[in-house]
Amino acid sequence: MKLCRFLGKDRRPEYAVYRSGEIAPFRDWMDAPPTDETFFGRLGDIAVAIASRGDVKEDWQPRPRTLLPPVPAPEKIICIGLNYLDHAIETGATPPTEPIVFSKFNTALVGDGEAIVLPGLSHEVDYEAELVIVIGSTAKHVTRAEAMSRVAGYSCGHDVSARDWQKGRPGGQWLLGKSFDTFAPLGPCLTTTDEIPDPGALPITMTINGEVLQSSTTAQLIFDIPHLISHLSHLMTLKAGDLIYTGTPPGVGAARKPPRFLCDGDVCVVTIEGIGQLSNRCAAESAFD
Ligand code: ZN
Repeated sequence: MKLCRFLGKDRRPEYAVYRSGEIAPFRDWMDAPPTDETFFGRLGDIAVAIASRGDVKEDWQPRPRTLLPPVPAPEKIICIGLNYLDHAIETGATPPTEPIVFSKFNTALVGDGEAIVLPGLSHEVDYEAELVIVIGSTAKHVTRAEAMSRVAGYSCGHDVSARDWQKGRPGGQWLLGKSFDTFAPLGPCLTTTDEIPDPGALPITMTINGEVLQSSTTAQLIFDIPHLISHLSHLMTLKAGDLIYTGTPPGVGAARKPPRFLCDGDVCVVTIEGIGQLSNRCAAESAFD
């Protein structure tokens, strides 16, 4: 199933079943719609309710222009660097022998249709299309064989990156360049694992203003999803709602000649087959002054 989150009546977050261009809000047909506090604990209930209701045609309504990130306030947003073999080659880096891990704060999250704000402090904001894993239940010291049982589903992510704050900074730090507000678009929906039998074979693209700038498949992942979850779970406890941005294919702006960084008005669309399309327009920070 595909689930989305949106700002509903009284400007409160609500949940809905999602399909292209349409939503069916839970409040219209579930006795007790989930809240941000109960969402993950009720995923099983939601699946049963959806299965038992059939497709009631009149429930569908046009989706709001903007959606909220499908996961409310994750405790951790973990990102994996240089995880596509073809991208590692593009950057000139030696393919990593263990996952390169960094993070973003949850203040960076925005949903489908929301603006990516290009900060005045950066002149090199870059794009990265990514498959995002949404953790569904606690994972601590899990094996690769156990790892997939901890996944709630997948979403499209965009790891927006200020290269001039990611590279050449003291200590080789990446965090600041990755965690400006709005630098973690996520959406449009959470697609549960039952719809994605093989997350290791999904075509993924990034288009900007309609031009395809990244195109690959998750078959290029150096460390696959079970490997990432198992590895991370030996280093920290993964909890329901935690996000793992799994890395990006080749074609990023910094690797182009000449470089292609994001500009005011650019429309970035991440498409992952079976999950959906995540679209965000860039806006210069000065436009918000
Ligand atoms: Zn990335």
